[in-house]
This record gives sequence, C-alpha cells and structure tokens, in this order.
Amino acid sequence: MAETLFSKIIKREIPADIIYEDDDALAFRDINAQAPVHFLVIPKKPIAKLSDASAEDQALLGHLLLVANKVATQEGLTDFRLNVNNGAGASQTVFHLHIHVLGGRPFSWPPG
Ligand code: AMP
Repeated sequence: MAETLFSKIIKREIPADIIYEDDDALAFRDINAQAPVHFLVIPKKPIAKLSDASAEDQALLGHLLLVANKVATQEGLTDFRLNVNNGAGASQTVFHLHIHVLGGRPFSWPPG
C-alpha cells in the first residue's frame, strides 16, 4: 500500500492531536472537524479501505469499533455517529482505513 498521511501520523512524522493509542489502533482529532467532536480511529496495519480487509482482519475490525466507543465515551459522548467512506465515490480521500466518529450535535438521516 502506498504511504499515506495517516501512516506518517502513526510514525509521528507529521503532527496530529492523538487522543488514544494501543498496539493496533490510533485515534486522533480530524483536522477539518464536521462536529464539535470529530475524531478518526485507524488501524496501525495499513489497510487502504474497508473492502481491502479480509477474514484475517476480523478481530482488528472489531477492535476498531470498541476503540471508537471507548474514545467516544472518554470524550463525553453518549450519542454519536460512525462513518466509513469506502472508495473515492463514497468521498474517501485518504486511503488508509479510518472510522470517523462524530458527536456533540444532532445528526439527520439519511446522510448526504
Ligand atoms: P475521508 O474523506 O473519509 O478519506 O476522510 C479523511 C479525513 O482525514 C478528512 O475528514 C480530513 O479532514 C482528515 N484529515 C486529513 N489530513 C489530516 C491530518 N493531517 N490530521 C487529521 N485529520 C486529517
């Protein structure tokens, strides 16, 4: 997989507001927040997009959801939205799998 901004954040080659880290995952605030709380949860393993994940990533994908919930709780959120953009047609711009976690304001449905 080509190196992305997010692998540089993992390696601390570019700065980010990191709010959670463990052996397998990192969470940091989105630089262009779309809600009062907006952070990204990423695997340290470089998976470009969700559709590139495989059965061997099952535990990792579950872990990312648990991290999203843990950090959302740390951030004081009870209601929040998770979003994964898969592919350019779904507005993915950084090709390192990430879960957007947004909260602190109401959200409508369906999303735009
Ligand atoms: P996506 O469009 O789903 O690929 O989302 C990529 C997200 O990464 C966008 O919401 C960007 O604002 C965010 N982003 C890009 N560069 C950085 C950065 N250096 N630090 C934090 N967030 C970033």
